[in-house]
Amino acid sequence: MRHYFFLVIYLSFILIMLNSCKSLNSKNTFDVIKLKGKKNSDVIHWDVITIGNLSRNRYWGESEERSLHSVICTTTIIRLKDYTIIVDPSLKDSTEMAKELMRRTGLAPDDIDVVFVTHEHGDHHAGILNFPKARWLANPIAAEIINKENNYIKKVEPAGTKIFDCIDVVTAPGHTPGTSGLRFDFKGLSIFVAGDAVATKDFWDENRMYFKALDTEESLRTYEKIAGMSDIVVPGHDNYFFCGF
Ligand SMILES: [Zn+2]
Repeated sequence: MRHYFFLVIYLSFILIMLNSCKSLNSKNTFDVIKLKGKKNSDVIHWDVITIGNLSRNRYWGESEERSLHSVICTTTIIRLKDYTIIVDPSLKDSTEMAKELMRRTGLAPDDIDVVFVTHEHGDHHAGILNFPKARWLANPIAAEIINKENNYIKKVEPAGTKIFDCIDVVTAPGHTPGTSGLRFDFKGLSIFVAGDAVATKDFWDENRMYFKALDTEESLRTYEKIAGMSDIVVPGHDNYFFCGF
């Protein structure tokens, strides 16, 4: 009788251990994460050129009342077999922009075919004049605002819904009405270059908007939209991060 009692205890213990191993496995391995991108894509490479920063950062304990740092945005390069796109050229100084581009990609400014500007704020097209040979594209609302300012030698063209058939131009309003990001597939990952629709990873993690957002509710809807279609987000003023959990 006593043997049976210990046998039951022993078998119960084995069952509990097996169950906890099973749940540990399903929670801790990456095979439960379903990636949203396609494996085959015309995008052959992408790089962040400059990692942006904000003029003030509440996550560094800074007040949002005044500017504390000179600001630059995050600049991204997307390469196809025959074309190269730069998103949000950050550096006004031509030598600096060319230096960063060469340092990170081995490319020269004249190798760029398209400049895409995520929205109308000046820090996101500060370096656009360094790419005079490229086509300049933006969301139609943003393009109209930038063109009205008349600061440049040529016009920013209104973008359609695709660039080179493989990059989606996705409206991402909230920060401004004319904000659009670029989404593309790369090795099974869906990458979203967000501009200021996502300021930094900290803002994303807290589901909070940067204080300059014109429409907070719309910004939060844009967060949801981005989360539903992306594995990697490239924010407007930070390094890229994985958001596919
Ligand atoms: Zn902005």
